[in-house]
Amino acid sequence: MKVMKFGGTSVGSPERMKSVAELVAKSDEPVFLVLSAMSGTTNSLVEVGDYLYKKNPEGANDILKNLEKKYYGHIDELLSTEEARADAKEFLKSEFKYIRSFTKDIFTSFEEKSIVAQGEVMSTGMMAAYMKEIKKDAVLLSALDFMRIDKNGEPDMPYIREKLAEVMKNNAGHHIYITQGFICRNSYGEIDNLQRGGSDYTASLVGAALEASEIQIWTDIDGMHNNDPRVVEHTEPVRQLNFEEAAELAYFGAKILHPTCIQPAKFAGIPVRLKNTMEPDAPGTIIDNVMMRGTIKAVAAKDNITAIKIRSSRMLLATGFLRKVFEIFESYQTPIDMIATSEVGVSMSIDDTTHLSEIVDELKKFGTITVDKGMCIICVVGDLDWSNVGFETLATDAMKDIPVCMISYGGSDCNISFLIKSVDKKRALQSLSDTLFKKK
Ligand code: ADP
Ligand code: ASP
Ligand code: MG
Repeated sequence: MKVMKFGGTSVGSPERMKSVAELVAKSDEPVFLVLSAMSGTTNSLVEVGDYLYKKNPEGANDILKNLEKKYYGHIDELLSTEEARADAKEFLKSEFKYIRSFTKDIFTSFEEKSIVAQGEVMSTGMMAAYMKEIKKDAVLLSALDFMRIDKNGEPDMPYIREKLAEVMKNNAGHHIYITQGFICRNSYGEIDNLQRGGSDYTASLVGAALEASEIQIWTDIDGMHNNDPRVVEHTEPVRQLNFEEAAELAYFGAKILHPTCIQPAKFAGIPVRLKNTMEPDAPGTIIDNVMMRGTIKAVAAKDNITAIKIRSSRMLLATGFLRKVFEIFESYQTPIDMIATSEVGVSMSIDDTTHLSEIVDELKKFGTITVDKGMCIICVVGDLDWSNVGFETLATDAMKDIPVCMISYGGSDCNISFLIKSVDKKRALQSLSDTLFKKK
């Protein structure tokens, strides 16, 4: 069994859906197919929720009217028999009726999550209808029957494993299993989700639960590129990454992967392959346990970072000082991304600023605090083992014209990170590409 996940663009039109169906049907082993919503749909549903929070059902209904019309058009293109079209339109009608049922009453995050979940329910329903029309042996499974998060919002892996095994036993022997990415239930049994972009996470979690041979993430680009293609020109695909390298890149801004999606695959030892739906024969990127020596692989950048500096001549580096500082961040459930210490100061960076003012208030007990917003972490990934003489110098050399606020090196064997101002991001990424990856 292999897992194949297709993102929003890959199922973004009836034509794309048809090529996904063909691609999947060609597989010589059974496929567990995870689909995102058609591109743009989740954003529209989030907007619907926004209007309803603001008590403007008219605004919500305007969006829904357009979306519904668009979807009916998709059905006419996707399916050819009148019977199949009528069934699919009936399904969409009940979907939009369900979404509209939330436009009349009080609106909370529960209703919002139920609405946002329908993008994936619709795309998978349409794919199942198309598979039926082209007579492929496919069965549609509801992710809500086996995907669950716990009280902390973390995947409940024992539950997922048990429920998915049950579902698979009751549906044994098919060639294609279709399910929704992104959506799940929470510990109260309510509809919830794995955060935006979370379909990758679904793929990795079900891959681990099913002990799949491979987890394939199909998207609109031929694998992980060595720099952010949205910012830098002439980026190139990286053919192989170690799990750790991929996790660092995903966490530090390589949007091709959801930040959490590497961990379950790594834990289960299942390779992840990134592939391009538009160019299925291109090799893509394989992510596995192999650590290639002697190369710097890629660069990524994460925006909206805030730097917090504590200056103190009294308490720094006294036993227990860092613990007290970390406890403040922990009590506000705010992860620290980067840290640097010296005899007279500690600098940290965070990206979740929900509790910034409370954190700063409490830190003032320990010293003078300065806060810099609008920062960006640049992360360079590859074989950066400390015994490799000169590798970190290559990265720092590329940054020689950029004001650097903080550097983190040695935290792992595969990464060096720089904290800079966001306004310098493009220049920094371009310079790193020119220095590290330019063909000689
Ligand atoms: P999907 O909808 O299939 O999940 P995403 O939009 O989430 O697709 O991810 C694919 C996009 O990630 C690409 O179109 C590309 O613009 C962006 N991206 C950012 N950094 C990288 C990178 N280092 N390598 C490849 N793609 C990247
Ligand atoms: N449809 C969801 C989103 O747009 C999940 C995903 O595509 O991964 O965020
Ligand atoms: Mg994505």
